[in-house]
Amino acid sequence: MSGPRYDRTKRQDQRLIGFECQACGWVSFPEEKRTCKRCGDAPAEMEEVQLQERGEIQTFVVQQYLPDDIETPQPVAIVDLPQEDGDGEPARAYGLLTETDLEEIDVGTEVVARFRELFSDGERPIDSFKFSVPREEKA
Ligand SMILES: [Zn+2]
Repeated sequence: MSGPRYDRTKRQDQRLIGFECQACGWVSFPEEKRTCKRCGDAPAEMEEVQLQERGEIQTFVVQQYLPDDIETPQPVAIVDLPQEDGDGEPARAYGLLTETDLEEIDVGTEVVARFRELFSDGERPIDSFKFSVPREEKA
């Protein structure tokens, strides 16, 4: 395995870390919350969990009316990303759907999380993630 490939994989993995509330199992993502949004435990005892990059659309909206400089229609989805080991609850993530035809989108559609660095504050990059329907691998 080449170095650059390993680095890229590792970097991607680090962005798919969720934080599981040890009191109720709710998964905070992408940021670690100090207070659990579900059970209210504060300070919540959060444990890191690795998430899968592919998940299922739970619900979505298609934004049609946006400022002129924003491309429309613009679909936005809530996607459940399961934990890598298959245990526990999935993380509920919210993001834009890109590179995707509206006809491809439905509840239950499998999508893959793609990350894009918005800007860096010098210490750590501020990331935004988007989802897209995975393309079939070339045989
Ligand atoms: Zn909780």
